[in-house]
Amino acid sequence: MGVKELQLVQEAFESNWIAPLGPHVDAFEQEVSELVGVSHAAALSSGTAAIHLALKLLGVRRGDDVFCSTLTFAASANPILYEGARPVFIDSEEKTWNMDSDLLYDELLNSAARGNLPKAVIVVDLYGQCADYSKISDVCNVFGVPIIEDAAEALGSSYENRMAGSFGRLGVFSFNGNKIITTSGGGMLVSEDASLIEQARFLSAQSRDPSPHYEHSVVGYNYRMSNVLAGIGRGQLRLLQSRVHARRCNRFFYESALSDIAGLRFMPLSSDGYQNCWLTAITIDPALFGATREQVRLALEEANIESRPVWKPLHAQPLFSSCRVRGGAVSERLFENGLCLPSGSNLTQEALHRVCEVIRRVYDGGE
Ligand SMILES: *Cc1c(COP(=O)(O)O)cnc(C)c1O
Repeated sequence: MGVKELQLVQEAFESNWIAPLGPHVDAFEQEVSELVGVSHAAALSSGTAAIHLALKLLGVRRGDDVFCSTLTFAASANPILYEGARPVFIDSEEKTWNMDSDLLYDELLNSAARGNLPKAVIVVDLYGQCADYSKISDVCNVFGVPIIEDAAEALGSSYENRMAGSFGRLGVFSFNGNKIITTSGGGMLVSEDASLIEQARFLSAQSRDPSPHYEHSVVGYNYRMSNVLAGIGRGQLRLLQSRVHARRCNRFFYESALSDIAGLRFMPLSSDGYQNCWLTAITIDPALFGATREQVRLALEEANIESRPVWKPLHAQPLFSSCRVRGGAVSERLFENGLCLPSGSNLTQEALHRVCEVIRRVYDGGE
């Protein structure tokens, strides 16, 4: 937290706007939509809630197919199951680790041939790097399938000078505690389409019909962000640039300290984009490095340094084991060899140095 957040929360207390909705919610929505360059935004209780409503707004129903990146957090695809729809997972490309547009095209072609196009494609911007939208958008436009951009990890990133979150029919952000800025828990749904966001606000507040009494015609959700948390979000938003800077510095520190090591590579950063570097991820080629990803992780743990394997692809999760997947080998290899290094915005040079020392010790031991 910075210094401004408490002041804004205090404002909420003093004005007694503790309920969901209130002036901070309106202002937070306005500020996020200005930052992202999208006209409309609805502040919600989580990124997962935002994905769920996005699916509902695009008319996803029981038995429909929804395509989704496979190399991501389970929250990207769980809402597909909430609606009784069927996830179809698409593998990553090497260039960005994001959804492979060629596989996406092939799979759309297949489903068009069967007369069963997906209702939506959920494209994830992994670890703060945008997918290759010039290709992915073209492919989706050919088939008229809308994109939901899961930019939960990518606030502050851009691609071809447009901000992450602005590439789909609907864009999703998360303000969960581990994200680049946080409201402790929260999310945002953004769109150019005012009516979609209006509907999202309606559904997120129990779908209450306009009437003096409580009148309901469709199922509703309690997905709205509270005014107190929106106050925190407004304070955090002012820190976004410095947080992005800090995380990019982490990445560049690691790169300069480790890039001479054989068999250790960094998640590629595409020159088409500007990345917030939410997490710095590496891959370890055991044959060249002389140790496995897991040995590196355990050595770090031994030194009381937490690191995590790259997301286990969703098609390899027990929960989604019956789902169709297109490709899969690329993300499986990234999971097997990939490691997310400590990436907090408040890491000191000394702490970063210590991480690098441990990794280098494992490498030397392997020679
Ligand atoms: C964190 C995250 C979500 C979910 O956001 P919550 O606010 O935690 O519900 C969805 N997708 C991705 C890629 C995420 O990293």
